[in-house]
Amino acid sequence: MIDTERIYILEDLYNWDYPGTAFAVAGDPIGHSLSPIMYNTAFLVMARVHEKYKNWAYFKFNIPEQDLGMALKLFHKKQFLGISLTSPLKVETMKHATSIDEVAKKMGAINTLTWENAGYNGINTDGYGLEVSVKSQLKINLKGKDVIILGAGGAARAAAIQCLLSDCKTLWIGNRKEDRLNEILKMIGVMGKGKVNRFNLAKLPKDLPKTGLLINATSLGLGPNDPSPIDLSTFDSSLKVFEMIYNPAETQLLRIAKEKGMTCCNGLRMLVEQGAKALQIWTGAQEVPIETMWNALNESLRTPSIAR
Ligand code: NDP
Repeated sequence: MIDTERIYILEDLYNWDYPGTAFAVAGDPIGHSLSPIMYNTAFLVMARVHEKYKNWAYFKFNIPEQDLGMALKLFHKKQFLGISLTSPLKVETMKHATSIDEVAKKMGAINTLTWENAGYNGINTDGYGLEVSVKSQLKINLKGKDVIILGAGGAARAAAIQCLLSDCKTLWIGNRKEDRLNEILKMIGVMGKGKVNRFNLAKLPKDLPKTGLLINATSLGLGPNDPSPIDLSTFDSSLKVFEMIYNPAETQLLRIAKEKGMTCCNGLRMLVEQGAKALQIWTGAQEVPIETMWNALNESLRTPSIAR
């Protein structure tokens, strides 16, 4: 039985001897990651149909940013077929992938690596996961929408590029620190010309759209007593609210949005959609057991020892 709760570190890779096909999620911290539960449950179900998945296993690794280069070299040497990247490694991974797809290049961030002879190929499935779950949970398309994104980190980058690729009407990006706001706008560059507006979270502009889609891509809300990152009182109740945080399942932002009668959802479906896309790429399978993955995540969040 695989210990999905054990946290491995760089040193474990030197003597890595798992005999099957290995996968990993790398981040710092990593204890909270639900990816091993999501993928190992999927492998169990897939192994009932195809023998080859019987020895597939997914592990979690705490990798500080300064060790990422060495860790990826060792992951490759030990033939880990796929690696997921989480905070704070998504941007740094751009320096280490041997090839990068066009969407990930635009986002300037990688969340999924796939083993190839020469090294790892990098892609980013976060934007895809966001768009699919906005459609399924909030029943809207990004196309033609006024979108407000809160945050300027890795998740906000993926969201911003996805909104532009899907031809949103306007994009408003708000952040606390100005330097990171500058960085994200520089990264978007010509792609967002004429469409993208910036603001500081401490001072909302008067012309900020009152309806459309609001996406929280800040980490404010992860703490049980965190306030909402934005005052919702000036928005119309038709505003749709997408909270990327999924643990806790209901942040202060979501609580207020619900009180105001706004349609809203958390980021759990985004997590499963981006993960299912990565699994399709690793397996080459057209269909992966996405509802099994979804149920495994919901179950683990109901179990306090795992959900923390
Ligand atoms: P980063 O660390 O790259 O960025 C964090 C962002 O949060 C920055 O914009 C930062 O602003 C902002 N922030 C942090 N603390 C505060 C605060 N006290 N007040 C206002 N803003 C704050 O993280 P990621 O972009 O990788 O992730 C952001 C969130 O999205 C996380 O909660 C993560 O769990 C979630 N996420 C969910 C996914 C899903 O599948 N559902 C996928 C990816 C991420 P500043 O620059 O001012 O410090």
